[in-house]
Amino acid sequence: MLEQLREEICEANRRLPKTGLVVLTWGNVSGIDRAQGIFGIKPSGVDYRKLEPSDIMLLDLDGKVVEGELNPSSDTKTHLELYRAWPEIGGITHTHSPAATSLAQSGRDLPCYGTSHADHFHGTVPLCRALTPDEIAEDYEKNTGLAIVDHFSREGINPVHVPGVLQLHHAPFTWGKNACNSLDNSIALEMSARMAIDGLLINPGMEPIPGHILDKHFLRKHGPGAYYGQQES
Ligand SMILES: [Zn+2]
Repeated sequence: MLEQLREEICEANRRLPKTGLVVLTWGNVSGIDRAQGIFGIKPSGVDYRKLEPSDIMLLDLDGKVVEGELNPSSDTKTHLELYRAWPEIGGITHTHSPAATSLAQSGRDLPCYGTSHADHFHGTVPLCRALTPDEIAEDYEKNTGLAIVDHFSREGINPVHVPGVLQLHHAPFTWGKNACNSLDNSIALEMSARMAIDGLLINPGMEPIPGHILDKHFLRKHGPGAYYGQQES
């Protein structure tokens, strides 16, 4: 069932330690087949190097396991809430990558300071609040997803234009068209966070990118007027 989806999710998870975003098992990637309403995610605690496509857990959008023998990632309910809220997204990556997590732990969002950030995120990557004791006691992972969705809704941020978030005291989540694209956005977020931290060390008065350059870089890659790369046939 859904062999191609399993293979793509397996490959994206296997890339996590190679990208330098993840040590130990501090990360997971998922992807969804919207036509079937089934998403796949890494099993909990499994070494990325030993991961096989057959290990990928398949679940429906009620959170019920439909195929797989292992326990799904402990973050599965966070992924589920994002898929339920945002039908446009096809993949999600969660890591504790050092620079992006440093911002999240410091309570800082990530303004857009340059074009490499603007190629992936149309503006500031926001900081989402931490959960309350009651939310954690009730259902930590589910309420993490709901807090992210609520933040984007209240702030009027389009998750397709800003495919990532930093959660206070925690770490980043990114998403994208599919599993691999969500991982690319995690890599871009980590590099952008690293460059922002370095830039602010060099010049604490560094200003965010002007709006016209931000728009140019994001919109040439995304949306109806996009022209970057090769046309898909
Ligand atoms: Zn985490």
